[in-house]
Amino acid sequence: MGIIVAKFGGSSLADASQFRKVKSILFADPDRHFVVPSAPGKRDSDDIKVTDMLYTCYNMVSAGKISLFEETFAMLKTRYLEIIEELGIDLDFTAPLATVHDELLSGASVDYAASRGEYLNGMILAAFLGWEFIDAASYIFFDENGQFDAEKTQELLSKKLKDTSYAVIPGFYGCNPDGSVKTFSRGGSDVTGAIVSRAAFADLYENWTDVSGVLMADPRIVKKPKRISVITYRELRELSYMGASVLHEEAIFPVRMAGIPINIRNTNAPEDPGTMIVRADASHVRGAITGIAGKKGFTAIAIEKNCMNREIGFGLRVLQALEECHVPIEHLPTGIDTMTVVVADSNIAGSIDAVVEKIRATCNPDHIEVITGLSLIATVGRGMVRYPGTAAKLFGALADAGINIRMIDQGSSELNIIAGVESVDFERAINAIYTAFTK
Ligand code: ASP
Repeated sequence: MGIIVAKFGGSSLADASQFRKVKSILFADPDRHFVVPSAPGKRDSDDIKVTDMLYTCYNMVSAGKISLFEETFAMLKTRYLEIIEELGIDLDFTAPLATVHDELLSGASVDYAASRGEYLNGMILAAFLGWEFIDAASYIFFDENGQFDAEKTQELLSKKLKDTSYAVIPGFYGCNPDGSVKTFSRGGSDVTGAIVSRAAFADLYENWTDVSGVLMADPRIVKKPKRISVITYRELRELSYMGASVLHEEAIFPVRMAGIPINIRNTNAPEDPGTMIVRADASHVRGAITGIAGKKGFTAIAIEKNCMNREIGFGLRVLQALEECHVPIEHLPTGIDTMTVVVADSNIAGSIDAVVEKIRATCNPDHIEVITGLSLIATVGRGMVRYPGTAAKLFGALADAGINIRMIDQGSSELNIIAGVESVDFERAINAIYTAFTK
């Protein structure tokens, strides 16, 4: 007997038939004690998420467009009432809907507005399951600076959950020190799921969505990529940073701290094992990679100076130039006489000339070149660490495909090899790497 926290995303709770799937998943294992729902998501690609409707409601009230507010609110109301009616739950939703309506109309905050999607959905789910409803605003706290207050939350929420056997805790929001509602950033129900898992001292955090786990590469680039069965938190972080969208970025920290594994599962295919995200895993195949992710839109500033390594403070002055222009750096591959700074286009737009000028003035380089139109590709895998041959395979695959590598960076963790290629080669490069490691 253990404790499982199950978070269900918006598409898993988009209508009554999805609610039924959720119920049968929850009731299939009595260890599933706590459930964290999102607001109803899209039923099809043309549909509107309830959270988006709520943001519209807020914007319409702010703009004084009351009839448009009423129209949107009526749509939202219909979505909830349809779910209740189709599920046949004995729940009078008139009062909760009226309260939300009146609060919005009288100028409630944008966070209050957005949070009501999860709040109302949580009430319906609790009634459908016959479980207790725990309002997240009473147990998830933010501090004076608007940061999540992990300590206070852990203390009060764990006390509450210890005395609760089965409950629904809506995702996405908590409360400010003054008691007003505050949301996490978009997709934040993942974070709530992680916080609840830690507070419940859970053995497993299940994150139910509409895909059967994390894929080795973006399916829009690689045709039918394989599913990753096990990935470590660190690998996932590397892949997510490079563009793989799996979980909300902040959802990893609370469970990672507590060493609770995350299982990404598919509500529409509950028999699929999904992907396990764990702290460490020894079962990996030597030399195998876990996944590939990449992003377009980078610029490299390549600086050359004879014997720069002997010049104390050279690197510092390069970085100072970027700091003074408020440009964060992504990567910093260095050679004996070269140092390259890779930055995201979005961060350096408009200040590239100023940065180059500053580096020229303070570092007096022999040569400085700005390379634009770069893409970065991260090949990530705990199986690569300390096993020779991975880099050769990777670069061999790119060479065989006739792809010019403009930059290489292997972090000291040896978990990740970053290759910079021209953006025109981006998709081909990812396919070449994927094929080399999966054939
Ligand atoms: N409903 C919120 C959103 O759409 C939070 C979530 O679904 O995780 O961003």
